[in-house]
Amino acid sequence: MKILVINAGSSSLKYQLIDMENEAVMCKGLCERIGIDGGTVIHKAKGQSWETSVEMPTHAEAFSKMLELMSSGEGAVIADKSEIGAVGHRVVHGGEKFTASAIITNETLAGIESVSNLAPLHNPPQIQGIRSAQQVFGPSIPQAAVFDTAFHQTMPPTAYIYAIPYEFYENNGVRRYGFHGTSHRYVSAQAAHFLGVPSENLKIVTCHLGNGSSITAVDRGKSIDTSMGLTPLAGILMGTRSGDIDPSVVTFIQEQTGMDYKEVNNLLNKKSGLLGVSGLSSDNRDIEEAARAGNVRAALVHSMLFYQIKKHIGAYAAAMNGLDCVVFTGGIGENSRRVRKYTCRGLEFLGLHYDDAKNESGEGTFDISTEYSRVRVLVIPTNEELMIARDTLELIQ
Ligand code: ADP
Repeated sequence: MKILVINAGSSSLKYQLIDMENEAVMCKGLCERIGIDGGTVIHKAKGQSWETSVEMPTHAEAFSKMLELMSSGEGAVIADKSEIGAVGHRVVHGGEKFTASAIITNETLAGIESVSNLAPLHNPPQIQGIRSAQQVFGPSIPQAAVFDTAFHQTMPPTAYIYAIPYEFYENNGVRRYGFHGTSHRYVSAQAAHFLGVPSENLKIVTCHLGNGSSITAVDRGKSIDTSMGLTPLAGILMGTRSGDIDPSVVTFIQEQTGMDYKEVNNLLNKKSGLLGVSGLSSDNRDIEEAARAGNVRAALVHSMLFYQIKKHIGAYAAAMNGLDCVVFTGGIGENSRRVRKYTCRGLEFLGLHYDDAKNESGEGTFDISTEYSRVRVLVIPTNEELMIARDTLELIQ
């Protein structure tokens, strides 16, 4: 069966068609500037790439163009849409309603809508993506929603309740939810597979490090704590997000500068992190290069990043009362030898012994710990789209 995986944003739509016989990606693409003039679609198939200009007033036109590119012209990989057996959608927030992926029904859509206030920038366009897919494919093709938050619904209240008046949890849903759940679930399962040990016997810390980054304690296959919170702003510093700071910084800045809450929100989400401290760039590659060239603030923010990742690994080892494996994934986790090296150095007290030569030379999924390290340290490329496709297949079967 072929499964179409959709990740809809407010003005964009990413797609991937996966053949579940061999889990191979048949084609993928990105529609940009939906609802804005000057729309473009980049379609990739058969090792080639095509860019097309097309106006897409709504997500429905993006779906139509995507289907046209998949089924006609040089980039065609199917004869027509009837070859698509199911559609899986990435949905950012499932609140407390969704503890696992779900088949799309009217009730599911109402559930996603009811928690939209928790992710006002993400859930509404994703609902729109689901509705457009329903229009284009009709009721006979099943669809599923896979939530970024669902994997973390196993956290105990000790980890997810904030120490503010309890009514904000009860009335407003203010608590830690966590994100990147699909990635943490995927790489922790892959780690168990790679090590040949059942998940039930493993205590793993998964570090998803990209433009957005989060770290999760996966205790015997279940998320028991994670660094992101009510929103993806919490945890370690990211490309442009501050990560954890004293909450009073918010009111202090407002008081001192007269900024309103929207401006401070923008400051912490868009102007902080690697970009904010370095003053140079939000991109880890730029920071590495500048730090090597002697830029003091780039070196500082990189050291802060290593330190914050290390602190989370230590904290989660304590939370799980042990540690068997650390996983690095995401654009930085998979590619930055420097981040992995300086994060792992100094964790020998936990039984984690990092191997410089392995770190420098590995590719794909590989182990960067010494033969004698009690804690295995793995680099595992994440694959959220495949996880969404697998969940969709399992649900419809
Ligand atoms: P997103 O969170 O948007 O999905 P990615 O997971 O693609 O982002 O991660 C993007 C980050 O990965 C950027 O900071 C980028 O600099 C970093 N990155 C990608 N390739 C490398 C590399 N070869 N070396 C160091 N950092 C890298």
